[in-house]
Amino acid sequence: MPARVLHGNLIRDQILAELRGEVEAMAACGVRPGLAAVLVGRHPASEIYVRNKIKTCQLLGLASEKLTPPETATTEDLLALVEELNHREDIDGILVQLPLPPQVDAKRVLLAVDPAKDVDGLHPYNAGCLASQRPGLAPCTPAGILEILKRSQIPIAGQRAVVLGRSDLVGRPTALLLMHEHATVTICHSKTRDLAAVARQADILVAAMGRPAMVTRDYIRPGATVIDVGTNRVEKPEGGTALVGDVNPADAAECAGAYTPVPGGVGPLTIAMLMANTVKAARQRRGAAKQC
Ligand code: NAP
Repeated sequence: MPARVLHGNLIRDQILAELRGEVEAMAACGVRPGLAAVLVGRHPASEIYVRNKIKTCQLLGLASEKLTPPETATTEDLLALVEELNHREDIDGILVQLPLPPQVDAKRVLLAVDPAKDVDGLHPYNAGCLASQRPGLAPCTPAGILEILKRSQIPIAGQRAVVLGRSDLVGRPTALLLMHEHATVTICHSKTRDLAAVARQADILVAAMGRPAMVTRDYIRPGATVIDVGTNRVEKPEGGTALVGDVNPADAAECAGAYTPVPGGVGPLTIAMLMANTVKAARQRRGAAKQC
């Protein structure tokens, strides 16, 4: 039987439709959640990401603002900007688009964001909340992966999950979220021995390494669910570039029970969860009543 394709675009649309209803209800109570995106310098991929985020805010009726310090901005410049945004009543979410220029201490800048407005879920406070199962703002891509699994009725509790990658942004928080949903989780990284053999034990395999099409049929247990987080831009032999995941799509289609395509799998969920975090941050920070 061919593998089921888990289309992220459809799940994103469901989530955005739900959020639109919530935003309308909040508007009726006089609350309009606001997102500030800080885009430093000129970075073509980052410009596209930020544009898409602002567009989605507009679609949902959220207030949004793009701040564009120059490429030469210093750590101190960005700390001052973040501080100003921390104090603005109309801003519920602050998103500092990565990567930052090399002269900037990115960790210091991310640490300066008020955890209550940290809609990317990257502040150590929110990382700690996630690790200790306290309410907070979870990173968007991992939260999106969980939405894909849940909304596709893929069982998690009791399943064996293997996460390839242990980054702060994707691998580690995804593993924690899966564990909190009662999966038995193994985290792999560049020092893991016999990666394919470990991956083959997975009922749910999450690939988040940034290694184009490295996950082949040898890594996939027949019938497993394969979530491909990788977004790798590679040169095509005929010229130009293509977006490739960490998973060989032909092998996933043949061996997996279900898999996310690239593009159109995990990617669309990341923006949807950023919107969800902004609405959540507005509710929590402004104390908006549940019925709003
Ligand atoms: P990262 O910070 O570079 O982390 C990569 C992780 O993979 C590290 O833990 C690394 O191990 C591990 N790894 C690398 N090569 C490996 C190998 N050969 N064998 C085993 N493990 C290996 O990357 P990231 O930020 O987590 O992103 C991962 C991928 O997801 C990238 O392609 C990125 O573009 C993509 N991404 C997509 C979205 C989306 O919205 N779709 C969002 C974020 C990221 P060590 O820790 O040992 O170095």
